[in-house]
Amino acid sequence: MAKKTKTKLEKLADKLGYKPRLAWDVMTQADKKAAQKFAAEYMRFMAAAKTERLAVIEMVALAKRAGFKDLARSKTVGRVFSVFRNKTVAVFVPGQKPLTEGLRLVAGHIDCPRIDLKARPVFEDADLAWLKTQYYGGIKKFQWLARPLALHGVVITSSGKTVRVSFGEKDNEPVLTIPDLLPHLARKIQGEKKLSEAIEGERMNVLIGGLPLGDKETKERFKLHVLNVLHDKYGITESDFVSAEFQLVPAGGPREVGLDGSMIGAYGHDDRVCAYTGLRTVLEVKKPTYGALALGLDKEEIGSEGASSARSWMLHRLVADLLRLTGIEPSYDNVTRTMMNVRALSADVDAAVDPNYPEVHEKYNNARMGYGVCLTRHTGHGGKYGASEADAEFVGWLRGVWDKAGVVWQPAVMGKVDEGGGGTVAKFLAQLGMRVVDTGTPVLGMHSPFEVIHKADLYQVYRSFDAFLAAE
Ligand code: MN
Ligand code: MN
Repeated sequence: MAKKTKTKLEKLADKLGYKPRLAWDVMTQADKKAAQKFAAEYMRFMAAAKTERLAVIEMVALAKRAGFKDLARSKTVGRVFSVFRNKTVAVFVPGQKPLTEGLRLVAGHIDCPRIDLKARPVFEDADLAWLKTQYYGGIKKFQWLARPLALHGVVITSSGKTVRVSFGEKDNEPVLTIPDLLPHLARKIQGEKKLSEAIEGERMNVLIGGLPLGDKETKERFKLHVLNVLHDKYGITESDFVSAEFQLVPAGGPREVGLDGSMIGAYGHDDRVCAYTGLRTVLEVKKPTYGALALGLDKEEIGSEGASSARSWMLHRLVADLLRLTGIEPSYDNVTRTMMNVRALSADVDAAVDPNYPEVHEKYNNARMGYGVCLTRHTGHGGKYGASEADAEFVGWLRGVWDKAGVVWQPAVMGKVDEGGGGTVAKFLAQLGMRVVDTGTPVLGMHSPFEVIHKADLYQVYRSFDAFLAAE
């Protein structure tokens, strides 16, 4: 078919107008192949990285395989990784210029919404054994009922022993579950309530056993049975839950989605997708002009609270260590100067338009699946409350970097102005004086047990981080 020649006005519209591009339309065959390969590698990571602690283990393994050394044991400049409290990870490659002149940071988070166990979780009721829970992060509670769950955790016993628990991921292993009430009886107690109130957190008890130990005379024999199983399997007792971190997550690994396999469904894309991609680009960067740093942070989903979050002084410590490593005195002056010269991507997912709910999205400014990496100038809600907002200078620079590298990107916001909102680590990095903007992967079903991303977007995120780290 002959190509239609463009009219003068069509050419003018091309020149003056702006429309985001569908990544698949502009990707070469080689790009498409590379996107499939990267997606497969990402899926392997996601199958193992089911909690922030497990993500740290996987990320360190990848760093070591790429020849990175532990910062704590390094005395010279080099490619290093650093772990803080087993929950955050950093990888760093020194640049040609001194750190005080600039640093490129890709900051993702590796914590995800989930269901935690309470300190005294085990009880029995109706001749069944159960666990008491408290959810972590923003979830729609009904999504976590009536589905196979795996239990991951770490226990520190009073004698100081560390016990790791992982249960329910293998195909031949039982799973745990939170049963939901049958529809026949749910008409009033759930059906007549608002969705947000229909499932109460205190009813989200996990079914863990149905066999007794002993005979009818034995007290709490269903509870005793599961305690006995836990003791046999892991050597732990009931009091050990007090000093444990247990998380229930959807059982099983990621899956390709769609008849064409174009997408990936998984628990935890938010935000292991950006944390993994940030890690990969730093592991692969050769000799950057500016130092390249990727972070996998914790506690983003509950507002970046605590020692392992973006708000922790851990970042100051890390910068001080990196300065020393690269031969610069880590004085207050140099640490603050370095912070203020950081160019950072708050690497986090954004909401893709869900065409089933057009009324919450703003069609001109919302991210779309398949249109590449999101560029989100601000998060927050309403009148930009809680947002740091990137300045035009930084966004203009980044846009130029991406255009030069042929990255497919799209401007994004989280829904209509008064509809809701969300936050990221951007504002905490901005407080340190960093130039920072939110960028990442569009997601369908964010915070659900099965979030969906597009392989083309994943690849563009990878390319966008790579171009950012390499930029002058
Ligand atoms: Mn996130
Ligand atoms: Mn989130």
